[in-house]
Amino acid sequence: MYTIVYGFLYPLFHVMLYCHRPSKYKRVPEHKVKKLVNLKTVPEHERKYYNHDKYDPIPEQDEYSWLTNNPEHAQTFKKYKKQLKTCISKQAKIYICLLDDVGLTVQQHDDLIDFIQLWFQRQVVITNIFTDDIKANLTSRYNEQTSDNQLLTTDIMTIIEQHKQQLHEEQQLHEEKQQQDDCCAYLVLTKQDLYGKNTNFVFGEANTRLGVGVFSTYRFNCDFNPNCVLDNINQSCIIDTNNINTAKFQMVCHIVVHEIGHMLGLGHCIYYSCNMNGCNSVFELLTQPLHLCPVDLYKLKYALDLDIITRHEHLTQFYVKHNFVNEIAWANQFC
Ligand SMILES: [Zn+2]
Ligand SMILES: [Zn+2]
Repeated sequence: MYTIVYGFLYPLFHVMLYCHRPSKYKRVPEHKVKKLVNLKTVPEHERKYYNHDKYDPIPEQDEYSWLTNNPEHAQTFKKYKKQLKTCISKQAKIYICLLDDVGLTVQQHDDLIDFIQLWFQRQVVITNIFTDDIKANLTSRYNEQTSDNQLLTTDIMTIIEQHKQQLHEEQQLHEEKQQQDDCCAYLVLTKQDLYGKNTNFVFGEANTRLGVGVFSTYRFNCDFNPNCVLDNINQSCIIDTNNINTAKFQMVCHIVVHEIGHMLGLGHCIYYSCNMNGCNSVFELLTQPLHLCPVDLYKLKYALDLDIITRHEHLTQFYVKHNFVNEIAWANQFC
């Protein structure tokens, strides 16, 4: 079973203790990166969105960065296409299950769902399969560092795998021919802290083969210390942190589409500064852009048959509405 754990497996100070080593990551040379998107296959009016010059290269990796500690191979378009097997139908939906209010306001919650729909151009279905009884039986433990309870990811993953399978079986009963699953990705969101086996905590976990995942916003909150994120911003941060609520909401948007991207087969990006870059900490997340690089945009366009121009227009309006300053500046280059 292929599972990606997003985020650090140990608290930041543990990572700092054993990761003092130089990064082995070598940037892919520019002339090679430029060849990764075959512009001849892109309609002329969409080509500007794949213009290499509008995207930043992946930044230098320091000893704490994801790529230093998790050397990963590049996922080329060819590899992605082979792995995806078939494109995702227009009728496919993304299922989101909320275990709680996810630390968002009601308005932010609605806006997050809108954002997912604009990003993937697929309908989002909200489910509520975690009844109070089920929640009460989820394995949990007390974390002394945060003085809070944590939920084990395994139980949650099992429940959504079963529900996704049930949806599949119900669909088979109603369809004459075997068709693609109606549910292309299933993500559980919670504001409760999560842990996996042998880990102190995890941001989340995704099973790319089964297209299911769980993610927590707990570590974005400054309620716990000593690793308070927004009090310790480094200079390479690109997210505007003057408004903490906006910054947190942008990070939630970022992570949610990153995780769903994994469920649709996208690997981590090592070509550009990109939404699909791996991330070792919330500090690192603050240095990464929300948008996709040309290579990942090309993959997603292929998988979902995206209308790139409409997508860009709608996402730009979303960034303006929410004052995602760095994304507005980036998006306006294409006007
Ligand atoms: Zn990831
Ligand atoms: Zn990328």
